[in-house]
Amino acid sequence: MVTAHPDDVDFGAAGTVAAFTSSGVDVTYCIVTNGDAGGSDRTMSRAEMAALRQDEQRAAAAVVGVSDVRFLAHPDGMVQASLELRRDISRVIRQVRPERVITQSPERNWAAIFASHPDHLAAGEAAVCAVYPDARNPFAHPELLDEGLEPWSVAQLWVMSPGDQGAGMAVETSATVERKVAALLCHKSQIGDPEGVKQRIYEWARAQAEGAGLPQGSSAELFRVTLIP
Ligand SMILES: [Zn+2]
Repeated sequence: MVTAHPDDVDFGAAGTVAAFTSSGVDVTYCIVTNGDAGGSDRTMSRAEMAALRQDEQRAAAAVVGVSDVRFLAHPDGMVQASLELRRDISRVIRQVRPERVITQSPERNWAAIFASHPDHLAAGEAAVCAVYPDARNPFAHPELLDEGLEPWSVAQLWVMSPGDQGAGMAVETSATVERKVAALLCHKSQIGDPEGVKQRIYEWARAQAEGAGLPQGSSAELFRVTLIP
């Protein structure tokens, strides 16, 4: 999972992550920032906020069975799809050697402007570039070879919450949506109205399931899936 901020993975894919880990799939979180521009408490130093948000993300990860959580510490609010970020994500891909990478959409969704935070677009773009071609190309970021990291080809790229921008694949999360909500509620510094968030998540999950033709009352998360030969 590659996302810009602590909590992004939980909004977009924690139900799917819980389904994966329940079936024995190992999941790693690679979070581009520490979330140091989050929250609205101006009395808290940004370093304290970063530490708090990392703790919140680790707690949320534990709820859905994930213990490998890595932070790339790019500055929150200033993420760019730079060669440096592409290299940093490629490094994690070569270390972890995943079959599948799930990330945010690099395309702005005009119907969901909050989901299209510039950091999300940049993190998504850098992650897509890291999957193809950087992580698999030995001549991209040659310093990674110097670090002993051999090229790695990711077989599947999933973009979470593709919105209206493409055919989505639905992962049914009826059995895990409660854990998704519990994970989200770990991000206490970001959530002022836990009941409201809970409500919204259930409604959203049901709407996605309904849109995908699943039986009424089921929950789902949507992804755009690209298979890479
Ligand atoms: Zn975010």
